[in-house]
Amino acid sequence: MSTDARAVEVHPGKEAVVDFDPDLTFECVEECTWCCHHGVLLYEPDFLELANVANLSEATTQFRGQDFVRRETKDRADHVGDDGAACFFLRDDGLCALHDEHDWKPARCSVFPLEVTVADGDATDRDGGDIHVSVREEAHEHCDGLGVSERRVVDHLDAFLPAVLWDLDDPETKREL
Ligand code: SF4
Ligand code: SF4
Repeated sequence: MSTDARAVEVHPGKEAVVDFDPDLTFECVEECTWCCHHGVLLYEPDFLELANVANLSEATTQFRGQDFVRRETKDRADHVGDDGAACFFLRDDGLCALHDEHDWKPARCSVFPLEVTVADGDATDRDGGDIHVSVREEAHEHCDGLGVSERRVVDHLDAFLPAVLWDLDDPETKREL
Protein backbone atom coordinates (compact mmCIF):
# COMPACT_ATOMS: atom_id res chain seq x y z
CA MET A 1 0.00 0.00 0.00
CA SER A 2 1.56 3.33 -1.01
CA THR A 3 0.65 6.82 0.14
CA ASP A 4 0.57 9.87 -2.14
CA ALA A 5 -0.48 13.03 -0.29
CA ARG A 6 -3.97 12.08 0.94
CA ALA A 7 -4.67 9.53 -1.78
CA VAL A 8 -3.89 5.97 -0.71
CA GLU A 9 -3.68 2.91 -2.93
CA VAL A 10 -5.74 0.45 -0.91
CA HIS A 11 -5.70 -2.43 -3.39
CA PRO A 12 -3.72 -2.58 -6.66
CA GLY A 13 -5.15 0.17 -8.88
CA LYS A 14 -7.82 1.12 -6.33
CA GLU A 15 -7.27 4.40 -4.49
CA ALA A 16 -9.20 6.13 -1.74
CA VAL A 17 -8.88 9.70 -0.55
CA VAL A 18 -8.27 9.74 3.19
CA ASP A 19 -10.29 12.40 5.00
CA PHE A 20 -9.13 11.65 8.55
CA ASP A 21 -6.06 12.21 10.68
CA PRO A 22 -3.38 9.76 9.45
CA ASP A 23 -2.34 9.22 13.07
CA LEU A 24 -5.74 7.76 13.94
CA THR A 25 -5.40 4.32 15.51
CA PHE A 26 -7.99 1.60 15.97
CA GLU A 27 -8.36 -1.89 17.37
CA CYS A 28 -11.78 -3.49 17.84
CA VAL A 29 -12.57 -3.97 21.53
CA GLU A 30 -13.97 -7.41 22.38
CA GLU A 31 -16.60 -6.32 24.89
CA CYS A 32 -17.99 -3.66 22.55
CA THR A 33 -20.55 -4.72 19.95
CA TRP A 34 -22.12 -1.34 19.27
CA CYS A 35 -21.80 -1.47 15.49
CA CYS A 36 -23.58 -4.86 15.45
CA HIS A 37 -26.74 -3.46 16.99
CA HIS A 38 -27.88 -2.14 13.62
CA GLY A 39 -29.25 -3.64 10.46
CA VAL A 40 -26.47 -4.14 7.97
CA LEU A 41 -26.62 -3.00 4.38
CA LEU A 42 -25.84 -5.79 1.93
CA TYR A 43 -24.29 -4.99 -1.41
CA GLU A 44 -25.35 -7.36 -4.16
CA PRO A 45 -22.12 -9.45 -4.01
CA ASP A 46 -22.62 -9.76 -0.23
CA PHE A 47 -26.21 -10.84 -0.71
CA LEU A 48 -25.14 -13.58 -3.11
CA GLU A 49 -22.31 -14.68 -0.80
CA LEU A 50 -24.64 -14.73 2.19
CA ALA A 51 -26.96 -17.11 0.32
CA ASN A 52 -24.22 -19.75 0.57
CA VAL A 53 -24.15 -19.71 4.37
CA ALA A 54 -27.54 -18.54 5.63
CA ASN A 55 -31.26 -18.68 4.98
CA LEU A 56 -31.90 -15.33 3.29
CA SER A 57 -35.61 -15.25 4.06
CA GLU A 58 -34.81 -15.59 7.79
CA ALA A 59 -31.74 -13.39 7.91
CA THR A 60 -32.48 -10.50 5.56
CA THR A 61 -35.09 -7.87 4.87
CA GLN A 62 -35.65 -5.12 2.33
CA PHE A 63 -35.81 -1.40 3.11
CA ARG A 64 -36.28 1.26 0.44
CA GLY A 65 -35.37 -1.25 -2.24
CA GLN A 66 -32.13 -2.36 -0.61
CA ASP A 67 -31.22 -5.58 1.15
CA PHE A 68 -30.19 -5.56 4.80
CA VAL A 69 -29.35 -8.15 7.41
CA ARG A 70 -32.32 -8.13 9.76
CA ARG A 71 -32.25 -6.83 13.30
CA GLU A 72 -34.04 -9.06 15.78
CA THR A 73 -35.01 -8.83 19.43
CA LYS A 74 -32.63 -10.91 21.51
CA ASP A 75 -33.49 -12.76 24.71
CA ARG A 76 -30.55 -11.29 26.64
CA ALA A 77 -29.37 -8.08 28.24
CA ASP A 78 -25.89 -7.86 26.73
CA HIS A 79 -24.85 -7.07 23.17
CA VAL A 80 -28.13 -5.41 22.23
CA GLY A 81 -29.23 -1.88 21.45
CA ASP A 82 -31.48 0.22 23.69
CA ASP A 83 -34.52 -1.55 22.22
CA GLY A 84 -33.14 -5.02 23.03
CA ALA A 85 -32.43 -5.85 19.38
CA ALA A 86 -29.27 -6.50 17.41
CA CYS A 87 -28.02 -7.94 14.14
CA PHE A 88 -29.46 -11.37 13.30
CA PHE A 89 -25.93 -12.80 13.30
CA LEU A 90 -24.71 -11.35 16.60
CA ARG A 91 -24.51 -14.32 18.97
CA ASP A 92 -25.07 -14.39 22.73
CA ASP A 93 -21.30 -14.43 23.28
CA GLY A 94 -20.92 -11.14 21.42
CA LEU A 95 -19.28 -12.71 18.37
CA CYS A 96 -20.46 -12.52 14.79
CA ALA A 97 -21.68 -15.95 13.67
CA LEU A 98 -20.67 -15.23 10.08
CA HIS A 99 -17.15 -14.20 10.98
CA ASP A 100 -16.61 -16.89 13.58
CA GLU A 101 -18.15 -19.83 11.71
CA HIS A 102 -17.51 -18.87 8.08
CA ASP A 103 -14.55 -16.48 8.27
CA TRP A 104 -16.58 -13.97 6.26
CA LYS A 105 -18.70 -10.91 6.90
CA PRO A 106 -20.51 -8.33 4.75
CA ALA A 107 -18.36 -5.53 3.34
CA ARG A 108 -20.23 -2.93 5.36
CA CYS A 109 -19.12 -4.63 8.59
CA SER A 110 -15.47 -4.38 7.60
CA VAL A 111 -15.75 -0.65 6.91
CA PHE A 112 -16.90 0.44 10.39
CA PRO A 113 -15.79 2.72 12.15
CA LEU A 114 -15.00 4.34 8.82
CA GLU A 115 -17.48 5.51 6.24
CA VAL A 116 -17.26 5.71 2.48
CA THR A 117 -18.57 8.57 0.39
CA VAL A 118 -17.90 9.71 -3.16
CA ALA A 119 -16.10 12.81 -4.37
CA ASP A 120 -19.09 14.89 -5.36
CA GLY A 121 -21.15 13.89 -2.33
CA ASP A 122 -23.71 12.22 -4.56
CA ALA A 123 -23.43 8.63 -3.43
CA THR A 124 -26.14 7.48 -5.82
CA ASP A 125 -23.99 8.16 -8.86
CA ARG A 126 -20.28 7.56 -8.38
CA ASP A 127 -19.63 8.15 -12.06
CA GLY A 128 -15.94 7.41 -11.68
CA GLY A 129 -15.56 9.88 -8.80
CA ASP A 130 -13.02 9.26 -6.06
CA ILE A 131 -13.91 7.13 -3.08
CA HIS A 132 -13.42 9.14 0.10
CA VAL A 133 -12.97 7.54 3.47
CA SER A 134 -13.60 9.26 6.79
CA VAL A 135 -14.52 8.34 10.36
CA ARG A 136 -18.22 7.95 11.00
CA GLU A 137 -19.50 10.70 13.23
CA GLU A 138 -21.26 8.26 15.59
CA ALA A 139 -18.06 6.24 15.96
CA HIS A 140 -16.41 9.06 17.93
CA GLU A 141 -19.10 8.65 20.57
CA HIS A 142 -19.82 4.91 20.45
CA CYS A 143 -16.86 2.98 19.07
CA ASP A 144 -14.55 1.95 21.91
CA GLY A 145 -11.80 0.92 19.50
CA LEU A 146 -10.62 4.37 18.39
CA GLY A 147 -7.25 5.41 19.80
CA VAL A 148 -6.69 2.29 21.96
CA SER A 149 -3.75 0.76 20.11
CA GLU A 150 -0.72 1.63 17.99
CA ARG A 151 -2.40 0.28 14.82
CA ARG A 152 -2.71 3.18 12.41
CA VAL A 153 -5.87 2.90 10.33
CA VAL A 154 -4.24 4.48 7.30
CA ASP A 155 -1.66 1.65 7.19
CA HIS A 156 -4.36 -1.03 7.12
CA LEU A 157 -7.02 0.40 4.85
CA ASP A 158 -7.16 -2.83 2.87
CA ALA A 159 -8.67 -4.51 5.94
CA PHE A 160 -11.40 -1.85 6.21
CA LEU A 161 -12.22 -1.32 2.54
CA PRO A 162 -12.97 -4.52 0.59
CA ALA A 163 -12.05 -4.31 -3.10
CA VAL A 164 -15.71 -4.82 -4.04
CA LEU A 165 -16.40 -1.19 -3.06
CA TRP A 166 -14.63 0.02 -6.21
CA ASP A 167 -16.88 -2.15 -8.39
CA LEU A 168 -20.12 -0.66 -7.07
CA ASP A 169 -22.08 2.22 -8.61
CA ASP A 170 -23.09 3.21 -5.10
CA PRO A 171 -20.37 2.42 -2.53
CA GLU A 172 -21.75 4.70 0.18
CA THR A 173 -21.83 2.91 3.55
CA LYS A 174 -23.79 5.17 5.89
CA ARG A 175 -27.16 3.50 5.63
CA GLU A 176 -28.84 1.54 8.37
CA LEU A 177 -32.15 -0.08 9.05
S1 SF4 B 1 -23.02 -9.46 10.20
FE1 SF4 B 1 -21.64 -9.85 11.93
S2 SF4 B 1 -20.15 -8.17 11.93
FE2 SF4 B 1 -21.90 -7.56 10.67
S3 SF4 B 1 -23.26 -6.42 12.06
FE3 SF4 B 1 -23.96 -8.55 12.03
S4 SF4 B 1 -22.89 -9.53 13.76
FE4 SF4 B 1 -21.83 -7.60 13.32
S1 SF4 C 1 -18.19 -0.10 17.70
FE1 SF4 C 1 -15.96 -0.17 17.29
S2 SF4 C 1 -15.02 -1.29 19.02
FE2 SF4 C 1 -17.25 -1.63 19.04
S3 SF4 C 1 -17.50 -3.58 17.93
FE3 SF4 C 1 -17.78 -1.91 16.46
S4 SF4 C 1 -15.75 -1.56 15.54
FE4 SF4 C 1 -15.44 -2.78 17.42
